[in-house]
Amino acid sequence: MLMRSQNFFESSIEYLKGVGPQRAEVLRSELGIHTFGDLLRHYPFRYVDRSKFYAISDIREDLPFIQLKGKIIRITPHGDKRTTRLSAVFTDGVGQLELVWFQGVKWMKENLKLGTEYIVFGKPNLFNGKFNIVHPEVEESSKMEGQNGPSLAGVYATTEKCKARGLDSRAILKLQRTILSSMPLSIPETLSLTIIQQKKLLPVREALINIHIPTDDNLLSAATYRLKFEELFYIQLRLLKAKAVRTDQYKGKLINKIGERFNEFYHQHLPFELTNAQKRVLKEIRADMGTGKQMNRLLQGDVGSGKTMVALLSMLMVLDNGYQACLMAPTEILASQHFQSIAEQLQNMDLKIGLLTGSTKKSHRDFLLEELKNGNLQILIGTHALIEDRVQFKNLGLVVIDEQHRFGVEQRAKLWMKDTEVPHVLVMTATPIPRTLAMTLYGDLDTSVIDELPPGRKSIKTIHRYESNRLGVFGFMKEEITKGRQIYVVYPLIEESEKLDYTNLMYGFESICREFPMPQYYVSIVHGRMKPAEKNAEMNRFKDHQTHIMVATTVIEVGVNIPNASMMVIESAERFGLSQLHQLRGRVGRGAEQSFCVLMTGRKLSNDARLRMKTMCDTNDGFVIAETDLKLRGPGDIAGTQQSGVVNLHIADLVKDVAIMEEVRNIASEILQKDHQLILPEHQIFNEQLSILQNDKSYYSRVS
Ligand code: ADP
Ligand code: MG
Repeated sequence: MLMRSQNFFESSIEYLKGVGPQRAEVLRSELGIHTFGDLLRHYPFRYVDRSKFYAISDIREDLPFIQLKGKIIRITPHGDKRTTRLSAVFTDGVGQLELVWFQGVKWMKENLKLGTEYIVFGKPNLFNGKFNIVHPEVEESSKMEGQNGPSLAGVYATTEKCKARGLDSRAILKLQRTILSSMPLSIPETLSLTIIQQKKLLPVREALINIHIPTDDNLLSAATYRLKFEELFYIQLRLLKAKAVRTDQYKGKLINKIGERFNEFYHQHLPFELTNAQKRVLKEIRADMGTGKQMNRLLQGDVGSGKTMVALLSMLMVLDNGYQACLMAPTEILASQHFQSIAEQLQNMDLKIGLLTGSTKKSHRDFLLEELKNGNLQILIGTHALIEDRVQFKNLGLVVIDEQHRFGVEQRAKLWMKDTEVPHVLVMTATPIPRTLAMTLYGDLDTSVIDELPPGRKSIKTIHRYESNRLGVFGFMKEEITKGRQIYVVYPLIEESEKLDYTNLMYGFESICREFPMPQYYVSIVHGRMKPAEKNAEMNRFKDHQTHIMVATTVIEVGVNIPNASMMVIESAERFGLSQLHQLRGRVGRGAEQSFCVLMTGRKLSNDARLRMKTMCDTNDGFVIAETDLKLRGPGDIAGTQQSGVVNLHIADLVKDVAIMEEVRNIASEILQKDHQLILPEHQIFNEQLSILQNDKSYYSRVS
């Protein structure tokens, strides 16, 4: 919440009374606080009721931060030459507990007074059967009284280094008071008056005061709401404005007729009836590409929902209008798999399709590039080799990007730039993301969702087994193989550096080969250290049912499609995140047979890991899984969020604030509908705020 060129908010934190050069340095390096404005934006993460005092005798385990009033009756320094620990016995007249300091010991020793009434604030711990408070905040109660402060006091995030400089939560609150007391009476609003009036929001000044020193509960929630609203509003406005500007700026290729190729394929070669969801999404894509504007669409659909067919039909539409299309996949395996299946589906049609990856031989590559340039080649499928500069299309109409979470925003942009006219872009992702995140990460894209699986799929049965049940699992695998099924056994990721993983994989592979001996059984293996050609050969052996078991790393995570493989065993499942487990599991359950997923773990599991296993066993719904994942890990760890800037949210919460996010998105989109570039005078305030936020590195670090 930096304000307009307002000197006050931009003043260096060093000049705030009570800070000075050394503390300023710690505030900068530890908390990213450079200016008055930054400090004001360091909101409390919790509040405690300062009017409530606990009796020491009432303390139980698991209490949050509490407040006590009483006196110190004994101070004991510990350590040899230098005091390294200080403990003090504190009593409220009835009970006693110990206060302990490991840091700032010297200062405490010199300043703590026996017999003075203190207010002590902190989190009690049980230690050797007694309660203590480590690094409590202590304040003489006489000093507190004069402040006739509010009963709700903010608790601030801080760090050990800050505390060592005396910057604990309490001290930060004090600094906030200092700033707030010198804040000019009139500060510029950061939202428009219309919005403030319509939404009955607190003015910015009142919001800032009440977020730090709330007068009462109502004002605190009004302040919280106002600040969350503002934070999310500018995220949405920024994304939607980028989208509006792009739509104005770029002309799209007009794809307005459904022609011969689409019709021939649709009526003669389509291997199945499309689901209603697939049909609806195709209509959306068709309408979008038919406007003459450039399409930028995200296609979300759980694993196995049939996104590839939507991509194929969209490419045919484009071809019918005289343009080329390309499909880009994140790995060679996936690219060649897409190539094989698409070539097969189109085999009876008079179309030229090519596959270009990093391992395409030079002679063939040169041939492809030539054909691409003169327009003979209509569909090109490949990896990121497609975005190299030498790859030039005659007239590229559509780019489909599969499983885009592996592609950076920059790579996406590079594709758009391949031509003077921008091709339509369809991004397909199977990573279900909660709505809030989707609105943020992909807020500048239109979205289509395939929310229906093809008919006849049996939902996958997932079970959790420990190492000790391994023999049972082997028995189960044999039964399935006897029924004619195939099985994946997946090990955690293999990186060049992770020797241990590699050893585990090879060890697992050997033990499976022993347990499943030839000639009754055949076992394949695929991992990241193999050459693409080797990988392909192994994949194909499995695909052609020459082998029964595929031992693999997460290289099979995305997109691999072998319907007869109906069982998956995931080794060391506790090492995978929820989304990844869900992605992996999506490799089975693709045929008509009942599929199974077995999660193997050790006995000792963290609570989080246990919850992950339980979630996987309880549901197949990608969105439920994504929500749980977000709750467990927080947004910072979810793929893509690093780029979005959402991890730097100061007050809004991506799990809880869905409703506000939707509200602000609607408001932002209404504003932009009237005024794409925000040129109307009453919209200047938005532009100013956007450019301030844009320049604020701590805010949108690397936004698309
Ligand atoms: P994903 O969305 O995970 O990329 P795919 O496109 O690989 O899913 O499709 C999964 C499987 O479902 C494929 O074997 C595909 O041929 C099949 N499939 C797709 N759409 C349908 C449909 N409408 N009816 C039956 N099977 C379908
Ligand atoms: Mg796919």
